[in-house]
Amino acid sequence: MRSISHSLLSAAMTAVLLTGCGGSDPGEDSAGAGTSPATASADAVSAPETVEPESEPPAAEHEAEPGGEEEAPETPVSEASWEPDSVHVLVNKRNPLDPLSYSPSDLVTPNVPLHGPQEAMQLRAEPAEALERLFAAADGAGHSLSMISGYRSHDYQVQVYGQHVATNGQEAADRVSARPGHSEHQTGLAVDVDTPAGPETTLRRAFGETPEGRWVAENAHEFGFIIRYPEGAEEITGFSYEPWHLRYVGEATAAEIVARGVTLEEYWDQPAAPDYQD
Ligand SMILES: [Zn+2]
Repeated sequence: MRSISHSLLSAAMTAVLLTGCGGSDPGEDSAGAGTSPATASADAVSAPETVEPESEPPAAEHEAEPGGEEEAPETPVSEASWEPDSVHVLVNKRNPLDPLSYSPSDLVTPNVPLHGPQEAMQLRAEPAEALERLFAAADGAGHSLSMISGYRSHDYQVQVYGQHVATNGQEAADRVSARPGHSEHQTGLAVDVDTPAGPETTLRRAFGETPEGRWVAENAHEFGFIIRYPEGAEEITGFSYEPWHLRYVGEATAAEIVARGVTLEEYWDQPAAPDYQD
């Protein structure tokens, strides 16, 4: 169950040539530059505009967003947090984790089919339990899913990203690999899923067209997960469509996001993060 299929990994590596997982998956990261969404090239790690280590700042105070002053719908059931242990922590190209080396303290390995690097097969306890229920429900509906990648440590991402920079230069690296501290996978709340039917749909847009991918898109919110990088939202999320990348935000927030058809940034009234700020 936990062994790594070379063919699958190889497929995953190939896939990253065409797609850039926002979390920069280990399996995707061994290849060179691809045709992923363009990102700003720079050297230093950007800092969040507002860092409140001890509390969650009101989202509205963070920064005005174009159009944000229009009629606000109903009060969101949650707000963005910059507390790394919050399930509502916001991590994107303009909001790195604080501290950059953050590591969750409650990592566990979900009891689900695993197909990927063993060192990336953990999640925080809450999303791990939710993922088990999601997979069980999928199974009940006749769909087989597997987990490709969950939590990735800062040090692991340093290696991955560093290899890309050394090989292809920073600009190319930024297209396919998140900078350390900027990967949602480092929160332990993000997971990449796949169907055993792959590998042609593994970590590819085509996953969204598989029966499993459609089921995930329609049902993941019931277990607290959202498709973090929806189609056509690159200028907001910073990453192209990734139907396989699920982010845990809790059931209430996930249900609202799906009902409104918005991105996480939009739901929390946060600025778009198309690229790094440096
Ligand atoms: Zn991912």
